[in-house]
Amino acid sequence: THRSKVTVIGSGNWGSVAAKLIASNTLRLSSFHDEVRMWVYEETLLSGEKLTDVINRTNENVKYLPGIKLGKNVVADPDLESAVKDSNMLVFVTPHQFMEGICKRLVGKIREDAEAISLVKGMEVKMEGPCMISSLISQQLGINCSVLMGANIANEIAVEKFSEATVGYRLNREVAERWVQLFYTHYFIVTADVEGVELCGTLKNVVAIAAGFVDGLEMGNNTKAAIMRLGLREMKAFSKLLFPSVKDSTFFESCGVADLITTCLGGRNRKVAEAYARNGGKRSFDELEAEMLQGQKLQGVSTASEVYEVLSHRGWLELFPLFSTVHEISTGLLPPSAIVEYSEKLPRSF
Ligand code: NAD
Ligand code: 13P
Repeated sequence: THRSKVTVIGSGNWGSVAAKLIASNTLRLSSFHDEVRMWVYEETLLSGEKLTDVINRTNENVKYLPGIKLGKNVVADPDLESAVKDSNMLVFVTPHQFMEGICKRLVGKIREDAEAISLVKGMEVKMEGPCMISSLISQQLGINCSVLMGANIANEIAVEKFSEATVGYRLNREVAERWVQLFYTHYFIVTADVEGVELCGTLKNVVAIAAGFVDGLEMGNNTKAAIMRLGLREMKAFSKLLFPSVKDSTFFESCGVADLITTCLGGRNRKVAEAYARNGGKRSFDELEAEMLQGQKLQGVSTASEVYEVLSHRGWLELFPLFSTVHEISTGLLPPSAIVEYSEKLPRSF
């Protein structure tokens, strides 16, 4: 038989929830092997035990998703090579800054017929220009890579609250449908769309930082809604300038406006940015992240820096006042209050 075998590469907050979703489907659907491998970046817990041992003993990721059973068919594996070697469906879900190193380690170690999907919200900036994480995976590993993005705060999906997501693909609709099958449950409704999905997921993290600043400054709901609207416009303009094929309608999928809203209301980027503004920018993002997120990672600050690099390189800074101001605030160049000062100066037609 040719049953597909799945490996999840990453085991943070969202990675663990992804493993849970997938594991419920591989048990149910005969076209998949029951077992789901999950590569875990190994760490030793305060108890002295290895995280992988605890996950395999208790069926729970006690550090990144405490209180949730992953499914007995999820097997944690600290060895990246052994975790991928038998699988033809690779699900990438780590903070974006680790993806380049992980891809390098996987060259020559994966099955030739492997298909990938990325749940990673982020990009890498190279000399040649920006590279979305799905392209990094495709280029480094020579395999096709789809993406899955949506309004998906992991802790809410973990307790099976209803939400939606979008699979983005470039070439093959059938492959996209297979990924939809692997993730779809009664509380997690997945549909497929083409390019643009990944840019939405990546850029909304920058807007969420801006929304957090507004919360920290106690500026109220109207201001926050205005920041979200301006942010959505910049997301769309940036995406279309870089990739003209991106469809307008994608911004109305779960991966677009819905993800923007949920992240600006309940995400980690928002939460840490709020604390940053409350402290008047006196405590760094790195320090606040370590203190508030206990090992989980923010994507918005580094994405703002990557976006800034693209904007300055192409002479587009003036076209994207919100994106560039977020970077200037998070690096301490401007005070948090600058997040609204720039928008007050925008020309009326903007
Ligand atoms: P996380 O931020 O909860 O956890 C950090 C993870 O990074 C841990 O698994 C940790 O072991 C690992 N790690 C630390 N150092 C590492 C290293 N040097 N190399 C490799 N891994 C290392 O992770 P997450 O929430 O699963 O986030 C992964 C991606 O999913 C991000 O792009 C994020 O934007 C996206 N995402 C997250 C959520 C959410 O609600 N958490 C929702 C949707 C998308
Ligand atoms: P945060 O990383 O800001 O928590 O956002 C999670 C997310 O991407 C929700 O879809």
